[in-house]
Amino acid sequence: MARDNKSTDKAFPWKQDQRWPSSQRHLAVRFLNGTTEQKQLVKTVVKEDYNTIPMHIRFTFLRSHSTSGSDIRVKFTNSGRSWSLTGTTNREEEPHVATMALNLNGEKEEGKVGTILHEFGHALGLRHEHQHPDSGLVFNRRFLRQEWTDEYIQSQWLPYGIDKRRTEPYDRYSVMHYQIDKEETKNLRKSIKRNNCLSAGDKARLMAMYLEKEAKPKVPAPPQTTRATTIKKTRPPLGERSIPKKSIPTATVKYGGREYEYATEYTDRKGRKKKVTPFQQKLMQWILT
Ligand SMILES: [Zn+2]
Repeated sequence: MARDNKSTDKAFPWKQDQRWPSSQRHLAVRFLNGTTEQKQLVKTVVKEDYNTIPMHIRFTFLRSHSTSGSDIRVKFTNSGRSWSLTGTTNREEEPHVATMALNLNGEKEEGKVGTILHEFGHALGLRHEHQHPDSGLVFNRRFLRQEWTDEYIQSQWLPYGIDKRRTEPYDRYSVMHYQIDKEETKNLRKSIKRNNCLSAGDKARLMAMYLEKEAKPKVPAPPQTTRATTIKKTRPPLGERSIPKKSIPTATVKYGGREYEYATEYTDRKGRKKKVTPFQQKLMQWILT
């Protein structure tokens, strides 16, 4: 049976966390060969589909004459299957050796896209979805053994066991799911087609792995003299209501559905009355929101 579109993974063992660390913001990709069209297709697919996911890691493509170091090295091949190393195992390869092979021959456009997405998914650290422990798929080893070795079946088809880091449910529409012919299993009535697009589940999983935490503005600590701009709730607790409000000008800022009031005038350490500058007010709003 034709398996040209399927991928193999060199990476072991499964239990390692192969996610790139949060300090790694870019994965530099170098092409080791390929036509302009092949390279352009890979760039377009990866930029449109992976580089638009709100996560803190992005693929960048090195120019052919660039001498910069690379994380991923892609070779195009006309024979054999496509494959990719998984996540940080890419680092274990020699700097001039391919970490991914793409065989886009004889594929329709959508199949090419599917192969690129699948292999770059591995490069980000994604595993095969049909190996999710909750897939419910019962593989027919006898059938698979006609073509593959036991070790290969174990690494490419059989469930990878419980992974506490992986909390998302099994996703039948993942681009990391093989096409599964019903004969390859003992319990499928209908074959599962190959998925050539990133599913919502794929994106959710990547975001869980590489979530871009909301960047907090880097606000310097407020100057000592602004300490008098204490924040008071607009509605004080019952016991405090009888206390007459000081007649100092105030402004309010909304935060978490509540309004907070703060003084716009204060007395500095030398006893001088000062007005809160617009900049200090802005600072206050930044800190609160
Ligand atoms: Zn694969």
